[in-house]
Amino acid sequence: MTAYLVGAGPGDPGLLTARAIELIASADVILHDRLIPHEALAGARPDAEVIDVGKVGGGEQVPQRETTRLLVEHARAGRAVVRLKGGDPFVFGRGGEEAQALRAAGCDYEVVPGVTAGVAAAGYAGIPVTQRGMASAVAFVTGHEDPGKPETAIDWAALAAFPGTLVFYMGVRQLPRIAEQLVAHGRDPAEPAAIVERGTLPDQRVLLTTLASLGEQDAHAPAVTVVGPVAALHDELAWLGRGPLADVGIAVTRARAQASGLAARLRALGARVIEAPAIRIEPLPVELGDPASYDLVVLTSPNGVEQLFRHVRDARALAGPAIAVIGPGTAAALRARGVEPDVVPERAVGEGLVEALRDRSYRRVLVARAQDARDVVPDALRDAGSTVDVVALYRTVPEPLGDEERAAALGADWATFTSASSARFFHAAAGTLDGPRLASIGPVTSAALRDLGHEPDLEASDHTPEGLVAALVAATGRD
Ligand code: SAH
Repeated sequence: MTAYLVGAGPGDPGLLTARAIELIASADVILHDRLIPHEALAGARPDAEVIDVGKVGGGEQVPQRETTRLLVEHARAGRAVVRLKGGDPFVFGRGGEEAQALRAAGCDYEVVPGVTAGVAAAGYAGIPVTQRGMASAVAFVTGHEDPGKPETAIDWAALAAFPGTLVFYMGVRQLPRIAEQLVAHGRDPAEPAAIVERGTLPDQRVLLTTLASLGEQDAHAPAVTVVGPVAALHDELAWLGRGPLADVGIAVTRARAQASGLAARLRALGARVIEAPAIRIEPLPVELGDPASYDLVVLTSPNGVEQLFRHVRDARALAGPAIAVIGPGTAAALRARGVEPDVVPERAVGEGLVEALRDRSYRRVLVARAQDARDVVPDALRDAGSTVDVVALYRTVPEPLGDEERAAALGADWATFTSASSARFFHAAAGTLDGPRLASIGPVTSAALRDLGHEPDLEASDHTPEGLVAALVAATGRD
């Protein structure tokens, strides 16, 4: 089997490459660093062995020797092993050494380049590392070494004379010494310099300064430091966090598999998104009758659609009955599978569907949905004389929150709830709803929040993720 040395990019999950996502999804074993987007592992197989070999600031860490040994051992045992590294595996990633060890052990390997922090963090700060007339070359430099030490591997005189942009990785603590050496060797103290902390992440921070003042900055890792005239372009070209939700911290509590759509929409508007999934979808074993034997099939959520299609072979199974859905998200999920729903109510709640179905009558109805969902629709249909089979295709189960996720979510400006269960499970996992303002997708979710003793601060009038986003934009009062 092959070992894959894979770059995971600098932090924004959107900067994972298509190849990285594909390999993560098929890996038997994943050996990952600490500095990888935590969303990167969401697509791993549930049975994959995931090993964190990350270095935790001076504390416990798996030594490089051990990491290499594990890598070789799993590859030799015939497993598809992904060695997932922050940024690019061959840029200060020790990927070269790991490739050498694999080669020495006779293992096949493949290198999947990643988006490297020096370019990406700069880009997210509006700093082009090269620019016509300003910088025709760029050097990636480790800031890890103490420039004061005689055994330093860096030729500071040559570096100071380098005709282009310098990008330092690591070693924010060495910045005073680095600046000193560069100036001592002739670099202009007035030259712009920018420190980009947590580049591409929701809480990215940029400190724009000069070489003379670089050492006085209160910088925190992970950060890259860009030295050169291009650094000053940050003032002109910074683009991150310019949308209507700029700097607004928003926690997304829905299931990880569904969170990304909402999270991406919020991010696109400049929000700092905190993904804190408190809920997970669990398929249930069910005996599903032939959909063709029904006159009407009711689907109440995109999850329901997805689960239904695990039971039917393809869209033809739904060719016979009329199809009704509660909301546009469910309609979209059906359309994606080639089925056009016949009934989509204006109001995306059970009551809305009941209203839309009022003037029609159906003999046999299948309601395919989540366990413990509300009975508004089946009750109304039964009252109208239909024979209704309710099939629970899946249930939502609580997902525990990590300490960091919990703290970040409770510290957010807003927490969003897209279902009653996301509200209940988040409350259970976090132990409280105190802290953020509470944004609810609709009346049912709002009622769940009230049951927990909290009045929502906002309720979307259009009960869809898009509606929730629009309500948040309106509530923050900017445009
Ligand atoms: N292989 C990685 C670099 C690993 S060395 C790459 O190609 O990006 C680790 C250093 O990368 C950190 O000390 C920091 O300098 C930089 N780094 C990683 N992620 C970063 C981020 N999100 N923002 C700024 N710098 C980052």
